[in-house]
Amino acid sequence: MNVHDNPQRIRDFLLDNQPERSRDFWPWLGPLEGNPADKKSANKFLLGCMVDFRKNSDLVWRDTQVFAEDKLCDPDSLWEAITDTPEIEWKTRRHKLRCSLHYYQRRHDKVWDMAKRITEQYGGDARKIWGGVSTEETLTRLVRLGLGPWVSRMTVGGLIDTRQISGRMDLKADTHVRRVLGRVFDGEKVSEQTAFRHADAMVPGDSWQLDHSLYILGQSVCTANKPKCHSCYLNVECRYFQRDLGA
Ligand code: SF4
Repeated sequence: MNVHDNPQRIRDFLLDNQPERSRDFWPWLGPLEGNPADKKSANKFLLGCMVDFRKNSDLVWRDTQVFAEDKLCDPDSLWEAITDTPEIEWKTRRHKLRCSLHYYQRRHDKVWDMAKRITEQYGGDARKIWGGVSTEETLTRLVRLGLGPWVSRMTVGGLIDTRQISGRMDLKADTHVRRVLGRVFDGEKVSEQTAFRHADAMVPGDSWQLDHSLYILGQSVCTANKPKCHSCYLNVECRYFQRDLGA
């Protein structure tokens, strides 16, 4: 069967093969098991999300914990503790903490800018960004703060996964997701827009629920070079596999 004819079948494969996630997959919020987050936990979670960009996730969360809990001594007001450092010192790494939250200087610099906005607009409490508003509004607010579209989606997804908020959301079409969806549907990596279209055909308006499966598949099996198609659970539905490998 042509894969385009049955996106629901691909969806079912993805849902049936969801990788297990431990409670602390989302640090600080996951262990709460749906109970409302306290201010410190919410702020540290958001700080980790801010720097979870083109960096190994394990390192992201470890570095965030070291920074917030060890270097800053787990302050009540994380964002104010960050902006206590003069902007010029933060951005030239001359601050007394002597650390960088990201090897991309721009990402490290942006943390200070976002911390200032959260302090000014939300009283330094990340929960006020998402409390009592829709997932769409939360996404809009995060993008406006400067997290960027992918990281904002991932953050909202984390909030949904940890039941801090409820609602529907599209997946984040990062490079792994675009590669897997593109190969399955079109035989090659696709644009963000096309990935959203394919995802929406599988789960209209709520494709976030496929995000983790796609991300893990792209990271570990459907890699950019030498995808492991023969051990991939999607190979019977995959156009790349059928076309290029003559399955
Ligand atoms: S069959 Fe191959 S190309 Fe298709 S999704 Fe799986 S690993 Fe990727």
